[in-house]
Formats: sequence, C-alpha cells, structure tokens
Amino acid sequence: KAKDSGRARYVYFEKNMNEKSFEKMQMQNKLRNAIEKDELVLYYQPKVDLKNNKIIEYEALIRWVSPDYGFVSPDRFIGIAEESGLISKLGAWVFEKACEFSKKINKNSENDIIVSVNVSVVELMNVNYISAIKKILEKIEVNPNLIGIEITETALMESFETNEAILNELIELGIQVSLDDFGTGYSSLNYLKKIPTNILKIDKSFVDDIKNDEIDETIIKAIIEIAHKLNLEVVAEGVETEEQKNKLKEYKCDQIQGYLVSKPLPEEDIIKGDFSI
Ligand code: C2E
Ligand code: MG
Ligand code: MG
Ligand code: MG
Repeated sequence: KAKDSGRARYVYFEKNMNEKSFEKMQMQNKLRNAIEKDELVLYYQPKVDLKNNKIIEYEALIRWVSPDYGFVSPDRFIGIAEESGLISKLGAWVFEKACEFSKKINKNSENDIIVSVNVSVVELMNVNYISAIKKILEKIEVNPNLIGIEITETALMESFETNEAILNELIELGIQVSLDDFGTGYSSLNYLKKIPTNILKIDKSFVDDIKNDEIDETIIKAIIEIAHKLNLEVVAEGVETEEQKNKLKEYKCDQIQGYLVSKPLPEEDIIKGDFSI
C-alpha cells in the first residue's frame, strides 16, 4: 500500500513538472514576439552625484507588459530569455534604445549624462557581443563615453577569464563598466584588483540595514574605502530614506540611486522634465 501511494505521488509530481515546463515554453514563445509587438519598454532610474546633487547617470530597466500575463518583472523573464537563447536579441534591443535615449538626454543637458544598461553574462559571453555593440554604437552615432553597462558580481565570477577580456574591450571602447549588486557574490578582495570595472554598486541589502545593523555599516565603510584606494567610484543602490543618504554621504559614497531620488520612470516623463529631485 505504501508503494502504491508512493507511485501516485511520483506521477503527480511528474505531471506538475510537465505543466511547469509547458508554461515556461509558452512564456518563451510570447517573449519571442514581444519585441515586434511593442510590448517591451525601458524605464530609466537616475543616479545622483552626492557632491552636487546632480543627475549624472540613468539606468535602463526593462519592462514587459504582456496582454496575456500583465506586468512581468525582469527578474522573471530575463532568466527565460537566457535559457531560450533570446537574450542576445533582447540585449541588442535594450542597448540600441539606451543609446538613442543617451543622445536625446545629452542634447539638452549641461553636464554629460551616462545611460547604462544591465547586461546578462550569457549575453556578454556570446562571441558576437562586442561586434554587435560596436555596430549599434556606429548606427546610433552616440559617444561611447555616454554609455555604461552593469554586470552582477556573481555572474562575472562564474567565468572570470572570459568575462575579464570582454569587459576590458568595453572599457577600451570608452564604455563605463559597473559591478552590480556588489557584496552579495563571493569575489575576494584579491579579485577586486583584477576586475575591469570603473564603479562598484553596493547592493541594496547593505543599504537597507544601515540604521539598525552596526556590522553592515562597517562593511559599507570598508567597501567604500577599498574601492577608493583602487580608484573605483561607489554607488549605493536602493536608497530609500534621508537617513541612509546622510550616512552614505558621511562615508564618502560617490553616488546614490533609489526611491528617495526617484523610481524608474518612462522616457517621456524624463524628457518633459516632469519630475524633480
Ligand atoms: P538591478 O540592476 O540590481 O536593478 C535594481 C532593481 O531595484 C530594479 O528592479 C529597480 O526598479 C529596483 N529599485 C531601485 N531603487 C529601489 C528602491 O529604492 N527600493 C526598492 N525596493 N527597489 C528599488 P527591476 O526593475 O525589477 O529589475 C530587477 C533586475 O532585473 C535588475 O536588478 C537587473 O538585474 C534585471 N534587469 C532589468 N532590466 C534588465 C535588462 O534590460 N537586461 C538584463 N539583462 N537585466 C535586466
Ligand atoms: Mg543594475
Ligand atoms: Mg543592482
Ligand atoms: Mg539588486
């Protein structure tokens, strides 16, 4: 009897798995058409220089509004794009849109503003990545100094040597490289010296705990000090309160980003100058 029920459970489990992969496949197919159907859009979130409170950068964050699923978080569909080989096409679309936005936004700005995109390591490691990037830069005729990429620390460390070479090429092109979600991965300080990057983005989880966790304060302070010694700038992500901002300023953090400054916004709102910081 015990055997029977064991088998029954097994069958049920298998069916569940099949349903899951079917759903995934369906989502892949919908995502494949999302670009053509105009269902994807980039929102932009400012980064502010703590020295003068000026916006010096915007990060592009992708949004998918699907007629079938409604709003789908990138945390959910980027993984699906990676698994299905769609990520390069998606990434190229993001990069081109961001280049266009950078040109637009810099036309009316007194200081240079970088527009940065998040890049999946699957996309980065594609053998055609650099040539695709160069093609888009030429097509849009944008200054590479006004473009940045963000790559997560964890993803980078998975295949360090290959990624190191590609990041070096990007930096040579003049593109700014940031290490995203820093502190959540497992790169040793020894590696930090070797990573081709201009900026460290301290993960939100450390910022969240600034007020009630003395240990994280110590960590943030140490990260900022080491980064500066290595000639890297530091951005804190997910800053939500004045208190966090003031502490970060005190620790000599260079830039902040987060709801305190602004949520990610559609392009129109930024071009219209519809928001103030
Ligand atoms: P990320 O690059 O670390 O982006 C930060 C995330 O935190 C964004 O979520 C942003 O909307 C959110 N955020 C910003 N400030 C605050 C704050 O003060 N409080 C809180 N609670 N959240 C804040 P989002 O837009 O859902 O993006 C999630 C992740 O998806 C990104 O994390 C990035 O890794 C990935 N992603 C987004 N767009 C793209 C893309 O175009 N390509 C790729 N490959 N990945 C992308
Ligand atoms: Mg990012
Ligand atoms: Mg991040
Ligand atoms: Mg994050």
